[in-house]
Amino acid sequence: ATPMAIMVGTGRGAHEGILIRNAEALEVFEKVDTLVLDKTGTLTEGKPRLTAVIAAQGFDQTNILQSAASLENSSEHPLASALIAAAKEKGMELTPASDFQSSTGKGIRGLVQGRRIGVGNAALMQEIGATCDGLHDEAESLRKDGHTVVFIASDGHCAGLIAVADPIKASSFEAIQQLKSEGIRVVMVTGDNHTTAAAVAGKLGVDFESDVSPSQKGDVIKKLRAQGKVVAMAGDGVNDAPALAQANVGIAMGTGTDVAIAAGGITLVKGDLRGIVRARRLSQRTMKNIR
Ligand code: ADP
Ligand code: MG
Repeated sequence: ATPMAIMVGTGRGAHEGILIRNAEALEVFEKVDTLVLDKTGTLTEGKPRLTAVIAAQGFDQTNILQSAASLENSSEHPLASALIAAAKEKGMELTPASDFQSSTGKGIRGLVQGRRIGVGNAALMQEIGATCDGLHDEAESLRKDGHTVVFIASDGHCAGLIAVADPIKASSFEAIQQLKSEGIRVVMVTGDNHTTAAAVAGKLGVDFESDVSPSQKGDVIKKLRAQGKVVAMAGDGVNDAPALAQANVGIAMGTGTDVAIAAGGITLVKGDLRGIVRARRLSQRTMKNIR
């Protein structure tokens, strides 16, 4: 392509908060027909807040939150910050944890005050052998409102659940509506549970794939490309980097991790998805100038 037109496009992009790291991204963007979006931190604010703590029979609410937050002190996950912040707001002291172990896409385990604590999704509880069936109805009703539910296990028993909610960015609604009206298919991918994902995707009016482990996000992109789709993928997390690299155009949230930014051809400085609409226009204009 003409370097001059690319330079102009790149300059204009930078002015609008769209950093274009490779010229190819600018060239290919106008052909994109499918946009895959990570949920947490990309569509949502990525700052989940605690909404409920429900203790299982024989367990104590305060104790559950205190143990879970103490263990999350060793985790970098957005859910960890939500639990730690809530515990601190309630004036709880966090205790040191040992034997910390993290299972990507499932949760964490460790020793807190002499007890084996696990915090994570149903898959983690299954691994631990803790049965949370008694909390099923409460969990589903929270998920139907778009909340994420994590279970707490204590010495192999289900001790309760903690729910968090992560608001959808106001800018996400506008961006998606615009992109859909331009004929682009939008698909949300998340490691979250099916019910929660359906609730969030329903609010946004997009397709979704749930229970996608971090290592599977790239496969979702591969599958779409094998169907002949031209795919852009936007994400913010370390987990999203492989998928960003698989896409025709990788879009990183500037508010996200350095790993995602390094893997993306484009960075949206403010993490505002309306930047995708602008990037698409920029690509159309640039390529028109070249032709
Ligand atoms: P997402 O793609 O939504 O960011 P992840 O793949 O990181 O999700 O995690 C999937 C699920 O695993 C979470 O919804 C949560 O239930 C569980 N999980 C992962 N890490 C943690 C953690 N540190 N504490 C509690 N639960 C966790
Ligand atoms: Mg994310």
